[in-house]
Amino acid sequence: MKKFDIRKRDGLARTGVFIKNGVSIRLPVALEVESLFPDLDRREETNLPLCAPLGLAEHYPPVNRELPISIHPALENSAESGDCVIVENWHTALSDPRKYVDWIIGLKQKTPVDTAWYAPASALPSNVHILCYSGFELFDFQAVDLKTAQQRFCTPEGDFPPDALDREICTCTGCRQKDLKMHNRQALLHEIALVRLFIEESRLRDLVESRCRLDAAHVAILRHFDRAYDFMERCTPIARNGIMRANSGESLQRAEVLRFAERVITRYIPTRTDVAVLLPCSAKKPYSLSQSHRRFQQAVAGRAHELIITSPLGLVPRELECIYPAGHYDVPVTGYWDAEECTVISGVLARYLDRHRYRRIIAHLDGGALRVAKMAADMCGITLEYSCMEHPAHDSALNALDAALAGERRIRDDRLHGMISYQYDFDLDTKGIIPRGHFPELFYSKKNVQLFSIDTGTGLLRPTFDGWDLIPEGYRVLIDDFIPEGDVLVPGVVSADSRIRDGDEVLVIGARARATGRAALPADELLRSGRGVAVRVRKIKKL
Ligand SMILES: [Zn+2]
Repeated sequence: MKKFDIRKRDGLARTGVFIKNGVSIRLPVALEVESLFPDLDRREETNLPLCAPLGLAEHYPPVNRELPISIHPALENSAESGDCVIVENWHTALSDPRKYVDWIIGLKQKTPVDTAWYAPASALPSNVHILCYSGFELFDFQAVDLKTAQQRFCTPEGDFPPDALDREICTCTGCRQKDLKMHNRQALLHEIALVRLFIEESRLRDLVESRCRLDAAHVAILRHFDRAYDFMERCTPIARNGIMRANSGESLQRAEVLRFAERVITRYIPTRTDVAVLLPCSAKKPYSLSQSHRRFQQAVAGRAHELIITSPLGLVPRELECIYPAGHYDVPVTGYWDAEECTVISGVLARYLDRHRYRRIIAHLDGGALRVAKMAADMCGITLEYSCMEHPAHDSALNALDAALAGERRIRDDRLHGMISYQYDFDLDTKGIIPRGHFPELFYSKKNVQLFSIDTGTGLLRPTFDGWDLIPEGYRVLIDDFIPEGDVLVPGVVSADSRIRDGDEVLVIGARARATGRAALPADELLRSGRGVAVRVRKIKKL
């Protein structure tokens, strides 16, 4: 009997419980793996390099079914759901970031999702953050013990000469007893415990962006993962708890940042009008709750489509201001935008303006945001109007904005329409649908039938069954002929829309029941898993 129950996922990283022959182990962890896999050190010919081509790899001993199952980039998958897999020689991959990421992506795509991943002889306090970020969760003490043999004192920041043991850097039992081996092992366990906490808090990216600064290879691995956008986007949840910290240059390339910009350009349908005003962002989220945005909205008075220019997201149309990560990001505010920020963000804005042609675009901006707007206008041959000689929230600037919009007609506020297009890639007819509640806790109904509510945590819309009836296709999970009791589990799922991501609001459809809920897995992983929760169900309706 073996299985891997995934408890919490954050991108490729997971926490969970691996169970083998009645022994259960909480992952991620480092342990004496001989206790778990007694036959492992008797295995022979396991020294196949990761770069070995198929012609060589296939001559290595045939696969046996003893755990952990060896997997290799050149070979077909031989693991099943619930197995523990081992990627031998992984420690050598750390020095070749490009191949590291290529191998991981290749291996992850062909291996069942609910397998526990063991990286032997690799984990150190200084690299275990990136190993977990890459989707490994089982480690041993070989790499730290080797450091001990080399008389190196290990910390998450790197390793140091052994007299660091006496410098009160650490107060673990090992340090108190002047036992370097004990300290090094405890430092690894401590770092893994910290990584686990960050995964549980959906914040591993924050820890990795911070930890990786001390090792160029780790920064390169993070960047290569970000460049593999199609892969990373699929395994990145649609929303996380709490704040998205955009504190480094890499934040511009995060999958959720790129996904937001991509959807604003390709899915989102703007409110119908031919006048737009470009506004600066505010530290408070959603923007509408800030003092400055209250004043902007008073000055605009519904006479233009409001587009907020911001780093790192690029462009946030007013209707999308609550949706993750637009309502959740935090950036260091310096008033200065660097060249890469300007290039990326003006590129997003130019693509948007090229697609949606306005008769008038008023730039109510200053500083970096104004520079970005000018760059974008140049790129697509558009002339901007300017309503800001000084700070955008000053009275004179607001008066100028008001005057610039004199004579323009009020447009209908249609937040719901914009949000549906972004979230479900669908052009909803919102005629007769009325918002209720107090921003941002909004509900939408028609003839007293509730259709949608806004999840104030994620900013995403939650359709009711009646709401789903208005969205004819997509974001469906088809199940077998049964009535779910509680959550829908993976084995009951027949198919799922490939656009579904972890955290998406979905409709479950079966022969005997329909259910609303939130996907616990992206569609492609759902179809490659053997067990676990597929959809966290909110409501069930028997047919
Ligand atoms: Zn210590």
